[in-house]
Amino acid sequence: MSIEVTYKNCPDCNHRYPSYAGYKDWCDACGWNIAPDKQNRTETGYAPIYNTIVEKFSKQYSTSLFHTVCSATDIRPRRTIFSFLSSLVGVSALVLWISMIALSVWLLLMYPNLFAIAGALLCGLIAWYLRPEVAPMPKRTLQRTTVPTLFNVIEGICTELNAPMPDYVVLSTEFNASMGYAGIKRKRVLTLGYPLLLTLSAAECVALIAHEIAHDVNGDPARGFWQHFGTVMFEKWFVLTYPFEIMSSDDVGLYTKLISIPFNLLSWCVSQLFLGCSYMLSWLMWRESQRCEYYADLLAYTVAGNKNALSMFDKLAYYPYFAAAQQAAVLAPKGGKGMFERYADMIRELPSREIERIHRVNMLDSARIDSSHPPTPYRIAFIESRGILSGRYSLTDHKFQTLLNELRNYQPEVEELLIDEYRAAIHW
Ligand SMILES: [Zn+2]
Ligand SMILES: [Zn+2]
Repeated sequence: MSIEVTYKNCPDCNHRYPSYAGYKDWCDACGWNIAPDKQNRTETGYAPIYNTIVEKFSKQYSTSLFHTVCSATDIRPRRTIFSFLSSLVGVSALVLWISMIALSVWLLLMYPNLFAIAGALLCGLIAWYLRPEVAPMPKRTLQRTTVPTLFNVIEGICTELNAPMPDYVVLSTEFNASMGYAGIKRKRVLTLGYPLLLTLSAAECVALIAHEIAHDVNGDPARGFWQHFGTVMFEKWFVLTYPFEIMSSDDVGLYTKLISIPFNLLSWCVSQLFLGCSYMLSWLMWRESQRCEYYADLLAYTVAGNKNALSMFDKLAYYPYFAAAQQAAVLAPKGGKGMFERYADMIRELPSREIERIHRVNMLDSARIDSSHPPTPYRIAFIESRGILSGRYSLTDHKFQTLLNELRNYQPEVEELLIDEYRAAIHW
């Protein structure tokens, strides 16, 4: 299918650029309209002071970490003062939780004092609300008998990384992949998004799976149970103590309204303290996580080879095309093509100018300390700084096609779920 091309002038620099029908207009000379939402980024949801602090530390930290990992031969994560601090805050959260239970029991022993009983109940309820929660076991998992090639590939990658085989492999509807832990015994769950797998080439698929498996062996503190518990618990304390208004707007009379002000102000101050603890713990963890992320990338590309590293990072940004195919499949289903057929057409027909734009959008990714991942340009530059990595595990195109054919049996089910998700999102 040929795409209609016209020529327009850039409103910013007057450069003449080709405009492809159906794709975003942008200027290759000055970068106008490459990604307006990213270029004029306004952080909503956070106080301006939060953004100022985060931006100041992010640039400094990301740049120095990038130079460190590029020049070091061994970037394996080590125990640092920051990982020690994050463990310490995690443990203090646990102590706080146990104190609530102890307080509840102590008050209960004061029976028949009714106030003590009420206090014991309140502390017990708070302790229940703050309890550590484990991720539930995945409901539907892939079985080796139905997708033997996928299991064989995962096993091959695990052997190369000296990593244990995941306990469960899940096929999801997401344009993503992840490695997580479920249940009290922290079973390893590798989740692979079907739409993303369809987007990648054989080598890119190996890099993706290897990156996720590497998360299990790279010592990332953000995956530590107690650190995670600490962050969640401080957030819950924040929710418990945050007053929705400083002066009550209920119809309670002027005196009650005035009396509520100091209590609510005190409550607000306490809530900000918990919020600060939660932010601090997250930043301490993310700081280490970013280092671990470079290590996971390095492990992944020593297994998959880094010839396709650039295209892999660009393809991770193809989500908007998939979302468009999802929408089209819901809005024009009758007699039309299926969601994945539409998506395959879209990807096949992407003009090189659009691929170039996606790459430039990726290179706009800016440094954030409040992110578990380093900025994409740094991740790409780090992998390139290691020279040519040939890769220890090779997946032939033929074997990759067999793997996809095995997964295709699940396509109707995945498509149905995606249609339901989209309908639910727009209340159709
Ligand atoms: Zn321009
Ligand atoms: Zn990662």
